[in-house]
Amino acid sequence: LNRRLAEFGTTIFAEMSALALSTGAINLGQGFPDTDGPEEVREAAVRALRDGRGNQYPPGPGVPELRTAIAAHQERTYGLAYDPDTEVLVTAGATEAIAASLLALVEPGDEVIALEPYYDSYAASIALAGGKRVPVTLRPSTEGGFHLDLDELRAAVTDRTRLLLLNTPHNPTGTVLSREELAAIAAIAVERDLLVVTDEVYEHLVFDGEHVPLASFPGMRERTVTISSAGKTFSFTGWKVGWVTGSPALVAAVRSAKQFLTYVSAGPFQYAIAEALALPESYFTGLRDDLRAKRDLLAAGLTDAGLTVHRPAGTYFITTDIRSLGESDGFAFCRSLPERVGVVAIPNAVFYDHKDEGAPFVRFAFCKQVPVLEEAVARLKRL
Ligand code: PMP
Ligand code: GLN
Repeated sequence: LNRRLAEFGTTIFAEMSALALSTGAINLGQGFPDTDGPEEVREAAVRALRDGRGNQYPPGPGVPELRTAIAAHQERTYGLAYDPDTEVLVTAGATEAIAASLLALVEPGDEVIALEPYYDSYAASIALAGGKRVPVTLRPSTEGGFHLDLDELRAAVTDRTRLLLLNTPHNPTGTVLSREELAAIAAIAVERDLLVVTDEVYEHLVFDGEHVPLASFPGMRERTVTISSAGKTFSFTGWKVGWVTGSPALVAAVRSAKQFLTYVSAGPFQYAIAEALALPESYFTGLRDDLRAKRDLLAAGLTDAGLTVHRPAGTYFITTDIRSLGESDGFAFCRSLPERVGVVAIPNAVFYDHKDEGAPFVRFAFCKQVPVLEEAVARLKRL
């Protein structure tokens, strides 16, 4: 393994899901729903397979039906107009979109600012691109939740900064950046002439406040690559359908990298997700309301179990602080939790360069059926 990748080892998600399997524990670690997405969308995938749509290499940028549906979704939801032919690219999940964006836009030695804790593939993708990651830490506040210090962000920008890698709604903290915070970030990007890659895969999972795409702020459309994924919005994490929207120049750059990573993304699922994106508004509000109730259930249960809960405004994760249980090492806590009570969670420290800052935080996923969450809570109360 080369030096760029050596520090990353096995992803925490694979490690913790394997632990859940081997111990039979309830898996609130890796974020994936335990119920599949809509029946009609699964049927659409089967129809595409049967009709021979997408069984051979689809077009590199994605099938036109899906690119049109992505553009229509951005227009309908946010009033952002993108040309399906030049400003939309289909990728193998958001993971490929992140990697391809960084490989395409970062020169070796460039600094890339990312909010810490950061999703684990960010660090690896920055390293693959030869960039230098510069974390800006979100800090817990006394009212609960994690907050971005805009002065710290401003101070992190140097003459070597090429790109800001943003994530809202934010995994693992559940922070949803406000309109004011995003406006300030946009102003910094414009003033310092930064590119921005913004990972908005949880765009539809916002329970308090609203999701505002960074690309909608003045001066941002031309410098922003926006990423999303059908994995989260439609509960098909195994289909690996993601996408990028942005200016023709930026999308063409990302496409240049994508063509040598996967060449194209799997065909039949693209047709199915094109139909999914056209589902009525009630689908999206239904998903959100269902997950909000699950957030409330798990948040109350974790609080009863003695954990300090940082109530998330979005995503399907809750970050807790284990110091209220008299513990301080999230890694040790998560490694022993399956044996102690039969539940798997993720130590947030893996998402930090500043391991000490992340040590006491542990993430639980709530994209699970209510009886599963209830059983997990009953077990955690034995802590
Ligand atoms: N970004 C974030 C913030 C995520 O949480 C995830 C999935 N867990 C991804 C990207 C990857 O998405 P996909 O499964 O579509 O590759
Ligand atoms: N995004 C999911 C999470 O944060 C997991 C995705 C993965 O396993 N790569 O848990």
